[in-house]
Amino acid sequence: MKKVIIIGGGLTGLSAAYYLNKQVDQETVDWQIFESDKQFGGKFNTIHRDGFIIEKGPDSFLARKPAGLELVEELGLTDQLITNATGKSYIYHDAALHPIPEGSVMGIPTDIRALLESDLLTQAGKIRALEELMLDGNVTDADQSIGDFFEYRFGKEMVIRLIEPLLAGIYAGNIYEMSLRATFPQFEKVAKEHRSLMYGLKSHRPEMMNTTGTAKTIGAFRTLNGGLSTLTDALVDALPVERLHANTKVKAIENTTVVLESGERIIADAIIIAATHDVVLQLLDVPAVEPLADQPMTSLATISLAFEKDAVPEIPEGTGFLVARTSDYNITACTWVHEKWPHMVPDGKILLRGFLGKAGQIGLLDQTDEEMATKVQADLKEMIGLQGEPLFYEVSRMKEAMPQYTVGHQERLAMVEGNLKHSHPTIFLAGMSYRGVGIPDCIQAGKAAADEAGQLLELMKQ
Ligand SMILES: Cc1cc2nc3c(=O)[nH]c(=O)nc-3n(C[C@H](O)[C@H](O)[C@H](O)COP(=O)(O)OP(=O)(O)OC[C@H]3O[C@@H](n4cnc5c(N)ncnc54)[C@H](O)[C@@H]3O)c2cc1C
Repeated sequence: MKKVIIIGGGLTGLSAAYYLNKQVDQETVDWQIFESDKQFGGKFNTIHRDGFIIEKGPDSFLARKPAGLELVEELGLTDQLITNATGKSYIYHDAALHPIPEGSVMGIPTDIRALLESDLLTQAGKIRALEELMLDGNVTDADQSIGDFFEYRFGKEMVIRLIEPLLAGIYAGNIYEMSLRATFPQFEKVAKEHRSLMYGLKSHRPEMMNTTGTAKTIGAFRTLNGGLSTLTDALVDALPVERLHANTKVKAIENTTVVLESGERIIADAIIIAATHDVVLQLLDVPAVEPLADQPMTSLATISLAFEKDAVPEIPEGTGFLVARTSDYNITACTWVHEKWPHMVPDGKILLRGFLGKAGQIGLLDQTDEEMATKVQADLKEMIGLQGEPLFYEVSRMKEAMPQYTVGHQERLAMVEGNLKHSHPTIFLAGMSYRGVGIPDCIQAGKAAADEAGQLLELMKQ
């Protein structure tokens, strides 16, 4: 009997288990998944309260990356899919909400008229941004930061006011440290092929590019009507219960032996570590993984506040707004859940979800829930005229939740994977620390790790 151990029962580990379970012969392969928490799902956490559906972790996934929708279909959940009802979002700057210019692709303008009409940039900022049409590709052999790449192309003002809130928001990162190649390689590719990004992005098919924040974003995201935890719950339900072990922490990996906190030792033919890289560093005390120690993590908190509809006099149509990281506000973004996902909020009520946590911020999670909720409310009072007390609020705190892909990420990852192939060929890494933080990326990573483990078992037969 061959043995495969999966460590971590979030989306990546459950996806790995699902695809492994499909491909292996149950008579000859014994696989087990260990999750330290009392329940499976990892960052997925939907709660239901007073008729509201509240996401304490992710709220939706991008439809254009196929792994998400494919898994939903395999699990028989397609009829539960819901598409985002509105796409438009705003940037809060200088005491006002400014719509993201139509035609922007992740903040990069492709519609010159919309850029000129936007009141987000000054006249000088717009002229500097338009110079991009005349610049060279600025593609170097070495990786560079997103901030440097875009500042060269569009100037500082556009980076700070438009591009940074959008791109940094996805990773909760510092764009002057984040790797262009590991996060948005499509922009480097377009600059290489077309010289100008503004020109090049126009000629790409829209579904290839994320038009975050504009009317075209309608239909770009999906969730499930009972909340996203339906996905991880369905994965759990699709797997044999005797192979699932919640409340079971792995303490260490010694060569091919997995050591549980209980002291139990299991010799494995393949091990998939489906947890963030800090866990890998704890479990595997070997030089092979040392480059991972350079990868920072950002802690995050989200505060969902439920109100009667009249608590905000006028919210413009849209999904919410983003705030420049350079501003003095606590929140980095706010989703108008009742507008983006109306099915999650009862009639006559509104649900606002404020995001806290910036790269490098210290002490965020030392605050009490009440302190965080008070700060978010104070910001929203000033920004959108929020009035009165909430019906209730729900705080979600996530310590070291978002791995940062800093400049040189891909080289470091290649080094770690090369080292492991040499020193620990039965160990595979998968999850949000490596090739994408989004839901479809994690599903894809789990599937790829299952395939690699399956291929290893096949090789062992020969
Ligand atoms: C606030 C927030 C909002 C997000 N929103 C979105 C969104 O809207 N759309 C989107 O696409 N993505 C979003 N993401 C990203 C997405 O949630 C993650 O990429 C994904 O959930 C990661 O899944 P994972 O299984 O790789 O990691 P995790 O969910 O972190 O799972 C790892 C699991 O390993 C377990 N574990 C750790 N150590 C051990 C051990 N020693 N032994 C056993 N088990 C262990 C942990 O308990 C955990 O359950 C968001 C992330 C955050 C933090």
